[in-house]
Amino acid sequence: MASTATQVAPPDSPTLSASQLKTLAGVGEERTADVGDVLYRIGDASYPFIAILEGEVAIVDAAGNEIVRHGASSFLGELNLLSGQTVFVTALVTQPLRFIAVERERMRALLFEDGPMSDLVLSAFIARREGLQRVQGVGLEIVGPRSSQATMRILDFVRTNRIPFTWRDPERGDDPTAATLLAGLDTASIPLVRLPGGTELRGPSSGQLSRALGIGRELAPLEEADLLVVGAGPAGLGAAVYGASEGLDTLVIDSSGLGGQAGASRRIENYLGFPAGISGTELTGRAVTQARKFDARLATPYRANSLEPGGERHVVRLEDDREVAARAVLLATGAQYRRLPVENLADYEGITVFYAAGPPEAQLCGAERVAVVGGGNSAGQAAVWLARGGALVTLLHRRADLRETMSAYLIREVADCGVVVRDKSEIAALHGADGQLEAVTLASGENLQFSFLFLFLGALPCTEWLGDTIGRDDDGFILTGPAANADKLLGTTVPGVFAAGDVRSGSTKRCATAVGEGALAVQLVHAHFAAD
Ligand SMILES: Cc1cc2nc3c(=O)[nH]c(=O)nc-3n(C[C@H](O)[C@H](O)[C@H](O)COP(=O)(O)OP(=O)(O)OC[C@H]3O[C@@H](n4cnc5c(N)ncnc54)[C@H](O)[C@@H]3O)c2cc1C
Repeated sequence: MASTATQVAPPDSPTLSASQLKTLAGVGEERTADVGDVLYRIGDASYPFIAILEGEVAIVDAAGNEIVRHGASSFLGELNLLSGQTVFVTALVTQPLRFIAVERERMRALLFEDGPMSDLVLSAFIARREGLQRVQGVGLEIVGPRSSQATMRILDFVRTNRIPFTWRDPERGDDPTAATLLAGLDTASIPLVRLPGGTELRGPSSGQLSRALGIGRELAPLEEADLLVVGAGPAGLGAAVYGASEGLDTLVIDSSGLGGQAGASRRIENYLGFPAGISGTELTGRAVTQARKFDARLATPYRANSLEPGGERHVVRLEDDREVAARAVLLATGAQYRRLPVENLADYEGITVFYAAGPPEAQLCGAERVAVVGGGNSAGQAAVWLARGGALVTLLHRRADLRETMSAYLIREVADCGVVVRDKSEIAALHGADGQLEAVTLASGENLQFSFLFLFLGALPCTEWLGDTIGRDDDGFILTGPAANADKLLGTTVPGVFAAGDVRSGSTKRCATAVGEGALAVQLVHAHFAAD
């Protein structure tokens, strides 16, 4: 994570073939540049795609530190070339340069038309973004204490959107100038956010920051759509691709970023068609590009606050006095896994901290010290499964007696497998480096060594905003199909309003099922319109 890491080199730069360079020459313009010329610099609003024919370019950070060099047949750029985000690095010519420049919109079109080129360029852009997120001093500077909710909200937003950042926390004690920067600012002006290029925002909302960075479509006060999709995780993006490609005017909104929880997964091993696994960033990044290709409108960050069902159109009211009137609405707001309230959790998530214990994780954990956190049956099952796979498992839970929350048969199995159970144990801090967990500190102050953590703290559906408008089960998940007395499988208690993915009562909490449900929902929307 940018707040702690030292400089790392991004992965080797892939090269373009002679025929790919020829294709680029056909849509771009050949140019030259001298040593010392700057092709684009930190804070620029945009830049062209640059393919190098001869010469060399260094990519440097704000302090002038070199991150990587690109030579002949290689190309410059990272995700912001497509998303339109502000430029985070400077490209400096280090050897006389001959290059092809392709304007952004033309490059976008080419990526849609040319599969192999798209594969090469997109994978490199995504890998470079992941590399930049690990380089200290690149991207945003966020100055604010951990005790400030506004600071934590902005941090959450930049993490979800995978924007490179450095966090300066005056409460950490090792950064005295951070406190000086905040001196004299009132609470509403915190955090202080410095954008690439030097612009400062004081106490920005996620929306203001997003717009300042050049990302996120701005919605008009009143928008209309055939299909409004609320939530841009796999279910929402699945619906966006199928809805827009099948001719529906499709608008997708999300309260944080595009990609949902899947975007947080380090490696999804069980998604069909990717035998070697695929990172959540890459899977959802590709889905977003695909949805844009079909002209789905994707708008973030906009939180849906209420739903008012209507005959012709349903109205969804958003956080900042905007509203969307849509002929059909798909609720795809997912569920939020409860997370541990510790500061650096995100550094470990998907690497050594997991929310599910499947075969890939069990394989990692053989003969390792592992903690399973939670007192319910899912925690018990995971503890048994991991212990049978050869891990040395400790079950940590916060109550005095496991029998209050776990079935008796599982408690017996847990004991039979040699799992150590620690009652009244809550984790207060994680320790390690580069995502590798080494130890945890309990609230009691005790330190325990673990290499992996599995969190089973329950999941909360993101449905509070619906109030009583839509039928929900006892845990708040949305009822669909027969359970909602709906004639359509994913229909809710309100005709024309559908639900897909993790938010649906009884759903399988998996990416593939979420995507499938999003696609199915579009067919049901067509059937609903046809019946009108
Ligand atoms: C760390 C981790 C690893 C995982 N690994 C795997 C794996 O390997 N394989 C697998 O199959 N599954 C995995 N999962 C589960 C998988 O990610 C989920 O099943 C899947 O993301 C569900 O998709 P969804 O679209 O239903 O919901 P989500 O992905 O949860 O997306 C919901 C979206 O709705 C938005 N939202 C919520 N409320 C509102 C509102 N009021 N207004 C606007 N937007 C809103 C949220 O910001 C979010 O972006 C993993 C989950 C986690 C957390």
